[in-house]
Amino acid sequence: MTALNKKTVDDLKVKGQKVLVRCDFNVPLKNGVITDENRIVAALPTIKKLIADGAQVILCSHLGKPKGEPKPELSLAPVAKRLSELLGQEVVFAADDNVVGDNAKAAVAAMKDGDVVLLQNTRYRAEETKNGEAFSKELGSLADIFVNDAFGAAHRAHCSTVGVVSYVKEAAVGYLIEKELKYLGGAVENPVRPFVTILGGAKVADKLTVIENLLNKADTLIIGGGMSYTFLAAKGYGVGTSLLDSEKIDYCADMLKKAEEKGVKILLPVDCVIAKNFPDPIDADIDTQVVDADKIPADSMSLDIGPKTAEMFADAVKSAKTVVWNGPMGVFENPTLAKGTIAVAKSLAETDAVTIIGGGDSAAAVNTRGFGDKMSHISTGGGASLEFLEGTELPGIAAGDNQ
Ligand code: AMP
Repeated sequence: MTALNKKTVDDLKVKGQKVLVRCDFNVPLKNGVITDENRIVAALPTIKKLIADGAQVILCSHLGKPKGEPKPELSLAPVAKRLSELLGQEVVFAADDNVVGDNAKAAVAAMKDGDVVLLQNTRYRAEETKNGEAFSKELGSLADIFVNDAFGAAHRAHCSTVGVVSYVKEAAVGYLIEKELKYLGGAVENPVRPFVTILGGAKVADKLTVIENLLNKADTLIIGGGMSYTFLAAKGYGVGTSLLDSEKIDYCADMLKKAEEKGVKILLPVDCVIAKNFPDPIDADIDTQVVDADKIPADSMSLDIGPKTAEMFADAVKSAKTVVWNGPMGVFENPTLAKGTIAVAKSLAETDAVTIIGGGDSAAAVNTRGFGDKMSHISTGGGASLEFLEGTELPGIAAGDNQ
């Protein structure tokens, strides 16, 4: 799947048209202050292009999980304020608990070419996540054209990503979605080799299809984090009280066999950082020890990759030309257990290879350690990029008009 067969903002004639743009403004907030504005910044190119071309730009997004009712702490008002600063022009915030109620309609009716209005959190409406017809129609009634630029929500068939398309004259994808597909699609479909993928995170079960799909594409598959212990168990190692999905041991054994048949290298931890208990709270001080991966005591759990493993993974990254990474190597929320994840982030920062971070925790790990600008691409969508790596069609992209 690529964006190439989809209409993009460059194919639209927008002068004097009302254009509804679905953005991903799902940013972290602390006491009403935006703590990471990457997603807002990533939405700017499409918004600026539409303003420059004389569109009347109506923006919409979800924020958090208000579960179908107005929640003041999940209002998009702080985003409107920050966006006004970043664009250097007023963004009118249509505060409206119905999202498309009288306030929003009045704000949209008063727009002139080049104006920008931001609607309230689309998930204030319960129909949003059910792709309900009435709300889709209301959203569509505001605009002539719909542009989806919310990569982070493209794996969801909701009113504001899919349903609305039936109620506008034209539907296209924005520059952010185009960029995400260029990097993620390019890496998966046509990687410069060697192509190394790194998977981590908590559970094997969440990444079954990704593992299978990547076995057909990658030269080396690195597996760390909580999911690696089911693989170690499949090799016959005792993993103590580490995270283990006992129902998936056979699956992991099968993947190891398939990888061997296909000539794909799978790298698993060779040493582990163990502790007696999971840290509580998660960032609490913790006593740890490093042991070989086949020597995890029965009463201990592994919570990070060890230094030998970090070096082995970094070596594999060094010889790669394309690297895709999704999921932390350990309990990276704890400074003592973040070393493996940081070592991997550093190895990606130091290579000339194309480096793609699949959103979510890995993106946070890279950004908070100051490695962000060293990566070729950091996806704005954790879930969406994972589904993309699985080879699944993303409904929010599929819904747009073909070229
Ligand atoms: P995911 O949402 O699947 O990407 O998983 C991310 C979570 O996996 C993070 O919150 C990590 O703390 C957790 N995690 C990574 N490695 C381990 C581990 N060895 N044991 C327990 N949890 C882990």
